Amino acid sequence: MALTERTLLGPGPSNPYPEATAGLAAPLLGHLDPEFIAVLERTCERLRATWGTDNPVTLPLSGTGSIGMEAAFANTVRPGDVVVVAVNGLFGVRMCEVAGRYGAEVVRVDHTWGEPVDVERVVTAHPSPALVAAVHAETSTGVRSDIAGLGAALRRRHPEALLLADCVTSLGGIEVAVDEWGVDIAYSGTQKCLGVAPGLAPFTFSERAWERRVEIPPVWYLDLGLLGGYVRGGPGGRAYHHTAPVAMIASLEAGLARIHEEGLGSVTERHEAAGRRLQDGLREMGLELFAAEGHRLPQLTSVRVPEGVDSAKVREQLLTDYGIEIGAGAGDYANSVWRIGLMGHNARLDRAELVLTALRRVLGR
Ligand SMILES: *Cc1c(COP(=O)(O)O)cnc(C)c1O
Repeated sequence: MALTERTLLGPGPSNPYPEATAGLAAPLLGHLDPEFIAVLERTCERLRATWGTDNPVTLPLSGTGSIGMEAAFANTVRPGDVVVVAVNGLFGVRMCEVAGRYGAEVVRVDHTWGEPVDVERVVTAHPSPALVAAVHAETSTGVRSDIAGLGAALRRRHPEALLLADCVTSLGGIEVAVDEWGVDIAYSGTQKCLGVAPGLAPFTFSERAWERRVEIPPVWYLDLGLLGGYVRGGPGGRAYHHTAPVAMIASLEAGLARIHEEGLGSVTERHEAAGRRLQDGLREMGLELFAAEGHRLPQLTSVRVPEGVDSAKVREQLLTDYGIEIGAGAGDYANSVWRIGLMGHNARLDRAELVLTALRRVLGR
């Protein structure tokens, strides 16, 4: 018996999201309506509080997390710029690809997957990098890297270099402190720990980065200069650039309000407790965790598929019998690692217990 009906926004009696359907299909405020502008202002202010920043350029970009990555490089990289990228998983690889398309001379610092970013190796990889990029929470491996440490080392060694952090899976799940850590450019996604539907990329850009931004990026849509209309104190006031995704921004505002009502500290503690319970339980079951000890993300647990077990079959059984979706491994680990997310709404002890019980049954342990 399935615990949940997996119908997405479909009409009819089995629709598990009647309110969302009504909301998204209901008449909306116009994107230039002063009331919507107020929603946008509040959303940007709540994003600043969530990021831990005063950056005026802090806004939700229209698109999923990847658009944040695209905007980050599009607005900072000039052809020939040296961009050092720490690669310890799939999303680090993707950053190299994106930076390369904007003409960067990419200096790729590869790590064993499952290990955190080695700050020393990254800051000594090139004598004068323009930009250094790393993934805070590598969703492909379940590893947390020390962005605070990277920021501090970078300020000592290359104070001129800009620091870019991919925070798609960290924002709202573990501590993120953009200003304190010296991060210049960061982006996230709504559908990971923020617990809102996919479709927006929370984005923040320091004043230092703003001064050094690419004047005319090759992508019109993501030109932060033109997006000034979205930005506090930005040039041109609230000028029209593209239609703001009104419903998405309203839902992000609501999601952020929920997080701040609970308290950012409580939210990260809840992620921590749920993840720890899940990881302890998996070990009690005799399973081996994949990410290096001491660097494991609570919101994304990677675990090795036991010898002789059919990875895909277990995932399918969890989905059909228990309504639980877990991920396959990424890259070379597609069949040998599972990835279990406990993010946002699911970062709860009862969810951790449910996954453990179901997995125990399916594996016969
Ligand atoms: C999910 C993810 C992305 C990509 O975000 P999309 O919303 O899928 O575009 C980028 N980086 C990391 C670390 C992610 O987990």
